Amino acid sequence: MPRVGVLALQGDVREHVAALERLGAEVVTVRACDQLEGLDGLVLPGGESTTIAHLLNTSGMRVVLEEKLRDGLSVFGTCAGLILLSREVLDGRADQWSFGLLDVAVRRNGYGRQIASFETPIDVEGVGTVPGVFIRAPKIETWSSDVEVLASLDHGDGMHPVLVRQDNAWGCSFHPELTSDASVHRLFVDSL
Ligand code: GLN
Repeated sequence: MPRVGVLALQGDVREHVAALERLGAEVVTVRACDQLEGLDGLVLPGGESTTIAHLLNTSGMRVVLEEKLRDGLSVFGTCAGLILLSREVLDGRADQWSFGLLDVAVRRNGYGRQIASFETPIDVEGVGTVPGVFIRAPKIETWSSDVEVLASLDHGDGMHPVLVRQDNAWGCSFHPELTSDASVHRLFVDSL
């Protein structure tokens, strides 16, 4: 089974670990550079993108991870993790940086604030319907033709992708780790 890391600097780490373990993956919680070695894939969890970005800098992991991602390490970002993988962050902090592997522009909190959190069924290509939990979720506002759209949602302002893939990078606006349905994680794990 693949060895999958979960970046464990901040955010809902435990839920991702549980989902991956349910699928039989060997899971490593990644808090330092050396734990990035020997991974088949890495999950960037939901949480607060500015905090995770800050901790990636101060831990020295940003540079090491950047190189691994450029070399093709598979990565799956959910919510804040999606923000970290995007080319452009709208409504970000002035100093907010991202890895830029997904050719999308995401708006932070684009689906509304905490109080506007919601759950809705999402049709995922090749998988079927999964529960989509949106909590201060980033909205993919623009995306290039290099981006494969695996699921979309019309939340009242037209269709926007909510699960995307480009080469080794996967991004998801919602939180598949917060439900008992592991099919989105399975999609990622099966690709490793
Ligand atoms: N809005 C958060 C951010 O900008 C992401 C929210 C989440 O991961 N649930 O990082």
